[in-house]
Amino acid sequence: MKIKHRVWDIFTVVLFVFITIPTLLGQNADSLSLTQESQHFAFYSTNGDIKVLDSLSTILENNYGRITNRLEIQIKKKIKVKVYPDLGSFHIAINYPNAPDWVVGSCIGDELLMVSPLNPGSIHTYGSLMQVVIHEFVHIAVYYAIGDKVVTELPTWLNEGYAQYEAGQINDQIRKSVESSMFEKVPPTWSQLNNASAMDFGKINGYGLSVSIVEFLVVTYGTTKLVLLIKDPKNIEAIYGLPETTLENQWIHYVKHESLD
Ligand SMILES: [Zn+2]
Repeated sequence: MKIKHRVWDIFTVVLFVFITIPTLLGQNADSLSLTQESQHFAFYSTNGDIKVLDSLSTILENNYGRITNRLEIQIKKKIKVKVYPDLGSFHIAINYPNAPDWVVGSCIGDELLMVSPLNPGSIHTYGSLMQVVIHEFVHIAVYYAIGDKVVTELPTWLNEGYAQYEAGQINDQIRKSVESSMFEKVPPTWSQLNNASAMDFGKINGYGLSVSIVEFLVVTYGTTKLVLLIKDPKNIEAIYGLPETTLENQWIHYVKHESLD
């Protein structure tokens, strides 16, 4: 009997370790595991989110060539995409536990982190998360194109505007919001946009203004110059042959559908 008890005790301890430790880890850190791979991406998720990974990998792979070609880069490794089951676990993972509900995607170095499109929270939807995943991949591609040093010099409006532009996150509703805010007050200058804190940037419609600026630059001067600017943001005047303030004025006229004087 004694031996039998001992065997049972060990079995209980083993059972405790196998059942409890993974649960505790799940509560504290990521409980995500590698659940799917595509040609250029490795997906980490819970079992519950495996069913959304085909859609995420399709949209990422469909946009991969265009974005890497535009930035003239080759990424040698698979990009990790971590899909969190809810906003709470995602916000903890990005070290921002009380983030507002609109914070649904991020990248840390060259890893892409996002909340599951199946559980997008109160602001976003399944469809908008399918754009967010491209947006975050664009940030990673830009990081590969210009490296740590230039990324820190990249103006916020250019970084955020370009990511939204490639992700197809500009639409008539955003154009209208930028246009009507401009008739109410003078828009922030590009350097004011660049100096706003992350939270203020959201509050002053920084995302809408930024993608509008990038759209203006692309429509007026083309993507080749835009890519040159991303790679050498300090040289805006040489690249466009105009001072930044002149470009800012042209942008305001563009948004208001006014011809240049
Ligand atoms: Zn962004």
